[in-house]
Amino acid sequence: MWNAITRWRRRRILSRAMIPDELWEEAVALRPFVSVYTVDELRRLREKVVLFLHAKGIVGAQGHEVTPLQRVVIALEACVLVLELDMALYDGFENVIVYPGEFIPDWEWEDEAGVVHRNDEPMVGEAMPGGPVVLSWPDVEAGADWQAEMNLVIHEFAHKIDMRDGEADGCPPLPAGMSVEAWASALTSAYEDFCARVDRDEPTAIDPYAAESAAEFFAVLSEVFFADPLVLRGEYPGVYDQFARFYRQDPATRVTVREPD
Ligand SMILES: [Zn+2]
Repeated sequence: MWNAITRWRRRRILSRAMIPDELWEEAVALRPFVSVYTVDELRRLREKVVLFLHAKGIVGAQGHEVTPLQRVVIALEACVLVLELDMALYDGFENVIVYPGEFIPDWEWEDEAGVVHRNDEPMVGEAMPGGPVVLSWPDVEAGADWQAEMNLVIHEFAHKIDMRDGEADGCPPLPAGMSVEAWASALTSAYEDFCARVDRDEPTAIDPYAAESAAEFFAVLSEVFFADPLVLRGEYPGVYDQFARFYRQDPATRVTVREPD
């Protein structure tokens, strides 16, 4: 769908579907890791947000009313991942669904013995190939404070990018010039190290949920890459390096370390 957007149509969408300055500034201020972007990065991010909101519905479920600020915050965080990438990575689904809290997903799966299971565990977010991204609003809101150590929107959209070449497996489709072997080797050795630390009950600066699977490791570490880049660069520099090449961003260089007073 993004490929079908000509330059001309793109300009027309951008000129018609503006985000009011006040709303944009309010959304940026709510995400400290974005407010350090350069003027040029913020301008390009805002354009992507306008195009994203033009293409995707952000719809409330179970009585949740999505406010204009919520729409912009969700779109802004989704576009952080693709700031330097082709937005076609987000083709193939129509909507972002926002619940007023945790939700129980409405799907079933069949195991190898043919037994059908239903998931009855409440979830805070979900992304499936070809399906919508589903979010619990209070858990999106928690991303305002990185001390909560989660950024749900970045997490679910990282899964979406990972799913561009099939099931989420921790390896998104890599561009020409990046090596699958180098990616797998950096990610696998970091994943094994992280799982061992979690098994030893060692406190970690990265959410232990990342030890769940290779796919969760990629999604959680993508959150850390954008929202707390110095932590990822310090803990797993090899992964940071692969992510910087994949996302074509170097978020650690945006962070100014202030001297204590
Ligand atoms: Zn996940």
